[in-house]
Amino acid sequence: MSIFVTGHTNPDSDSIVGAISLSYLRRQLGDDCVAARQGKISDETRFILDKFGGDEPLLKTSYSGEEVWVVDTTDLAILPKDILQATVLGVADHHKLGDLTTSTPLECWIRPVGCSNTIIKEMFDHYRVEIPKDIAGMMMCAILSDTVIFKSPTCTKVDTKAVKDLAKIAGVEDFKALGMEMFIVKSAVEGASARDLTTRDYKEFDMGASKIGVGQLEVVDLSVFDDKKEILFEDMKKLKDESGLHSVIVLLTDIMTEGSQLLVVSDDETIIEKAFDKKLDNHEVWLEGVLSRKKQVIPFLQPLF
Ligand code: MG
Ligand code: MG
Ligand code: MG
Repeated sequence: MSIFVTGHTNPDSDSIVGAISLSYLRRQLGDDCVAARQGKISDETRFILDKFGGDEPLLKTSYSGEEVWVVDTTDLAILPKDILQATVLGVADHHKLGDLTTSTPLECWIRPVGCSNTIIKEMFDHYRVEIPKDIAGMMMCAILSDTVIFKSPTCTKVDTKAVKDLAKIAGVEDFKALGMEMFIVKSAVEGASARDLTTRDYKEFDMGASKIGVGQLEVVDLSVFDDKKEILFEDMKKLKDESGLHSVIVLLTDIMTEGSQLLVVSDDETIIEKAFDKKLDNHEVWLEGVLSRKKQVIPFLQPLF
């Protein structure tokens, strides 16, 4: 019986590449391991797969009775619905410890670094397994994506070292230029529906008795949203009602000027204002230096709920 490796729902590049890289490593260690995914491939991830010739992981959303490795989350809210009916063999993640529990002992690789693929790189080193060129290139891109080309406060020396090592294996000389090329692909908003945009990189979080949704759009120039804010707010309201959320927040992150414009639709805007010690102006506010949802947004909201 196959063992599956999967990341979170609404998968980002780290989740998709993590499934590919970790399943490859597990196969070298003798497991019959298959890369899986929880949703559609983003344009950014497509760019990475095309660049290095990677295959899409298998779309598989049900895991009852299966054996699984989980990458890039331990939050039940963004894992397959029946994950607790699966045997979780291991976790490789770089987020706060979530609410996934297991019935058997597991191999746990959780580190406060910028990307799950940095941890998977450490796993390759630990097991002394060589990383193939194509997989190294994809892992490098996943780390550049999650760390916003090293600009995110989540980025550590371990991440920068991993990128340099992986670039060498992949034969990529100017990895920062490749990172920029990738973020320009990620910045494309033309032709995308409002729902595509609000949920492109979107996660729901249980906070006390409330649930909040936080989306993030990382772009190289915020002006692409000038004529899109109205439809974004409309869609955020819809999303909030449909899912019975307390708040929907969308971060429009400018990776060049390094900050985020927060768009807020909430039952109680004062909670958001308190969290960031800033007044909202017409449901939005600029947060200087904020690039990371995980490190600079969620930890400030959580204690207030
Ligand atoms: Mg992720
Ligand atoms: Mg990640
Ligand atoms: Mg991210």
